[in-house]
Amino acid sequence: MSTWAIVVAAGSGSRFGGPKQYEPLAGRRVLDWSVRAAADACDGVVLVVPDERRYDPEPAATVVVPGGDTRSASVRCGLAAVPPHADVIVVHDAARPLATAALFNAAIDAVHAGADGAVCAVSVTDTIKRVADGRVAETLDRRRLVSVQTPQAFNAAVLRQAHAGSEDATDDAALVEAAGGRVIVVPGDPYNFKVTNPDDIVVAAALLERR
Ligand code: C5P
Repeated sequence: MSTWAIVVAAGSGSRFGGPKQYEPLAGRRVLDWSVRAAADACDGVVLVVPDERRYDPEPAATVVVPGGDTRSASVRCGLAAVPPHADVIVVHDAARPLATAALFNAAIDAVHAGADGAVCAVSVTDTIKRVADGRVAETLDRRRLVSVQTPQAFNAAVLRQAHAGSEDATDDAALVEAAGGRVIVVPGDPYNFKVTNPDDIVVAAALLERR
């Protein structure tokens, strides 16, 4: 079995105020932590970067390619660079530097066991409400909800098929689900959060320094 990772790092970081994946974090950059975890668990890593960074040296990545205008488009840019012999493909957000190789392996193992896809997820601790026009329309039963992270592992043929069109979704599992694929949930890590706001770097650094 050959397992490859696609680490998507081509976002502009509009909420962060700049490309957060290149921020310094505990002696490396945010994306270096993400690529390192992927490289520890996979046979190769395709790193997808903003066009202007495509020639930067990225020692831990096997291949570096430029991304697209949306996250899904960037994943498709990465897919084109994954060797055809890969059986399992894991997609990971560069903006989640706290993901561990163990999380990658949990998702990969679920695909080896027969799932089309496997997502790392954690239970929801806040109460979630659906809102319309500034007013609460519905309170959802949080016991039935999970918060989904990356890494997400897939049977390679299923992921390629799900991305055969040009649909956009906030994660890859949504495209596989829409195509009728069986996506299962494996335990994620509450600390595997996505760096979104500048203060998240401070929290991530404290957690990494304690490892
Ligand atoms: O925008 P969001 O925080 O959901 O992005 C998740 C991941 O997808 C980030 O690592 C970001 O760099 C990546 N991304 C990308 N190409 C885009 C948009 C986001 O690779 N066009």
